[in-house]
Amino acid sequence: MTTASHICRQCGKQITRGRPDKKFCDEGCKNLFHNQEKLSELGEIRKIDLQLKKNRRVLIRLFGQGRPDALIERDQLLKAGFEFYYHTHYVTTRLKQHIFTFCYDYGYREVENGRYQIIKAFKESGRPAPGAHDSRTG
Ligand SMILES: [Zn+2]
Repeated sequence: MTTASHICRQCGKQITRGRPDKKFCDEGCKNLFHNQEKLSELGEIRKIDLQLKKNRRVLIRLFGQGRPDALIERDQLLKAGFEFYYHTHYVTTRLKQHIFTFCYDYGYREVENGRYQIIKAFKESGRPAPGAHDSRTG
């Protein structure tokens, strides 16, 4: 059965040959369609990646200013281009159960109204120093 909406998803032309459930007029249109889909997906991922990296740079810059326990105003973060919506993961500290929001290896948490503490990621478990070998023969 053919329907009136039986048109190529890529070029919009009527599909006159092949199975009725065909979505494209030929391989060329099919490939083009999927490539564009992939590109737009990459575009979305790239946009988020860029913002995450920007967030990280802002955290590094503000972290580097003043004392390590200094609190940063929300406005300072926003003015520097920080977007709270984007982050990579959460880390809960063992002792005080503080939840930090991370952008890669830099995290923050709201300590008091609109004021944030910024930290650099800490290692949870001790790893052997670089150059040390774990592998054993035998
Ligand atoms: Zn087509």
